Amino acid sequence: MLEPAFGARLRAALVSTAGGYLRNSVRQDRVTCAICTTPVDGFRYCYPCNSHRVHGRLADTVAFLTYAVAGDQSGYVMRGYKAQVPVQEHYRVVAMLALLGLSMHGTCPDALLDTPVTHWATVPSLPAKPGEHPFHRIVSNAASGLEVPLTAAAKVVDPRAVNPDHFSTGARLPANSHVLLMDDTWTQGGHAQSAVLALRKAGAMRVSVLVVARWIKQGFGDNVQFLRDISGLDFDPEICPWTGEGCP
Ligand SMILES: [Zn+2]
Ligand SMILES: [Zn+2]
Repeated sequence: MLEPAFGARLRAALVSTAGGYLRNSVRQDRVTCAICTTPVDGFRYCYPCNSHRVHGRLADTVAFLTYAVAGDQSGYVMRGYKAQVPVQEHYRVVAMLALLGLSMHGTCPDALLDTPVTHWATVPSLPAKPGEHPFHRIVSNAASGLEVPLTAAAKVVDPRAVNPDHFSTGARLPANSHVLLMDDTWTQGGHAQSAVLALRKAGAMRVSVLVVARWIKQGFGDNVQFLRDISGLDFDPEICPWTGEGCP
């Protein structure tokens, strides 16, 4: 948890640097996917989330701090912060988002699922890459509870598929465990949901997924109209990413 005065300064810094182009994710039945908050045309789930549901015990709950729009500043930020030569400004924005998201809404799944969060993990790159992922570096400074270290498979046929063998952990989780799994970007959700299944294999009772950004392509479906509809709504760190309104 951040010290209150520091938290207030961080919120002000995030809103002044990126509030003008970041948007809160929208939770609205049949307007956005009930799982991943991408725009949907009257359906409960988007096509990828609906097709993943055959895999059984996926994430208990999923939340997104913002959208990353391809070709827009939000998209550049989510790519630039982890570029080979990272863009410092982008790294600062992602770090502020993740720190505020964790400190303000990291324990909201306790109330949603009636079980306190006990562990945390991040989704590694797939296939595995050497060195520490910048997102892991950001989260490890701020997350509370025990880490469940996840390792990505060295070779995968279809990295976008939902497959529990894409990730593994040597940890064994206790019966009442609740893992907060964090990721930087969600495109179709295969990476995060595969990591959820790997955590289930390790014994996780509950898994809540907190993602910084839902990746959105402007030219897909009604996305342009959706983005236009939310274009005047500057980012507000107080809005709970799990509910789209107040914290549970
Ligand atoms: Zn979805
Ligand atoms: Zn909250």
